[in-house]
Amino acid sequence: MQVIASIFDMQSTAENLRSKDRLIGLVPTMGALHEGHLSLIRLAKERADTVIVSVFVNPTQFGPSEDYTNYPRDLGRDLDLCEKAGADLVFTPAVEEMYPKGFSTYVSEELISKPLCGISRPAHFRGVTTVVAKLFNIVRPDLAVFGQKDAQQIAVIKKMVNDLHFCVDIVTAPTVREPDGLAMSSRNRYLTATQRGEALVISQALHKAKEMVESGVHNTDRLIAEATHLMGNRRRVRVIYASIVDRCTMEAVREVLPGKAMMAIAAWVDEVRLIDNILL
Ligand code: AMP
Repeated sequence: MQVIASIFDMQSTAENLRSKDRLIGLVPTMGALHEGHLSLIRLAKERADTVIVSVFVNPTQFGPSEDYTNYPRDLGRDLDLCEKAGADLVFTPAVEEMYPKGFSTYVSEELISKPLCGISRPAHFRGVTTVVAKLFNIVRPDLAVFGQKDAQQIAVIKKMVNDLHFCVDIVTAPTVREPDGLAMSSRNRYLTATQRGEALVISQALHKAKEMVESGVHNTDRLIAEATHLMGNRRRVRVIYASIVDRCTMEAVREVLPGKAMMAIAAWVDEVRLIDNILL
């Protein structure tokens, strides 16, 4: 497995792969890898000849009071996990090269990025679309794999790809959960055992909503009321939003049309911000 840090080297290596007709799959990550990330690498491996994983903690997607500085970083372990999962190359650009002094060009999706996380993290998706556009320009992959765990991120990226004519297939990988249902996340490592126990209520609330839909409840007010009630019973959990939205546009819906709607939750567990979602 090759490790490349320089943007120029990454561009020329990708160019060389393309000249040999190798299908390139990209898996963008911020490192602190877990089984969720590894499932993306394995899926990319099934669909592409060469799998490139990027590991880059992207400063522009963090708000001023967020955890950019303290975000978990463990490159040695990440490289090991990438190799075991079948990655061919890991791209680890330096922040100074991705965002040199005077950097002033951003990519911003203006519709799908506004609701849900866009309300409490107003600059977040601009940072995501900017870094993903940069990675797409550097690597020029044939396909890129993202996790359903970050459902709004996928919808925003698909819109960007469509609006800006990027030639890349966006592949969605299902959310990987711990055996008890907690969605895997790099931020789970911030949780104490007590906080982790309380965080479980997020996936429980989502699964409860899905059960209710399956038993015939389609009114979103009732589904949201039940989910927020469940989460309200946990002392450390503060709900940022619990919404039922169209899974493509992220617009709130009043009635659940099976196959089209999704429940998305963001919540603080003490000072740790977690998100999760379920297709209804
Ligand atoms: P991150 O490192 O958090 O930026 O995530 C990198 C990629 O991994 C994104 O496409 C995420 O959606 C995906 N991802 C994170 N957690 C999970 C999970 N539990 N299951 C599936 N994909 C995930």
